[in-house]
Amino acid sequence: MVQKMTRIKKPVIDLSDCILCGVCQDVCPEVFWLNDAGYIEILELLDYPCSGVDDAIKNCPADCIAWE
Ligand code: SF4
Repeated sequence: MVQKMTRIKKPVIDLSDCILCGVCQDVCPEVFWLNDAGYIEILELLDYPCSGVDDAIKNCPADCIAWE
């Protein structure tokens, strides 16, 4: 049996640049979450919705979201 080794594409946030505006959570709440500790968290998913993450990347005013 041939096993496919696919790397999951995952978004990352540079928290040092994040201004906690909440836009990413607004446009893609299934991935981005402003947690109780007061910073944006990337939820653990098996697959990330590309269009939602791309929207968050496009709309992030601090330009601190990227694909890993
Ligand atoms: S949109 Fe960008 S700056 Fe705003 S909370 Fe999300 S990661 Fe931070």
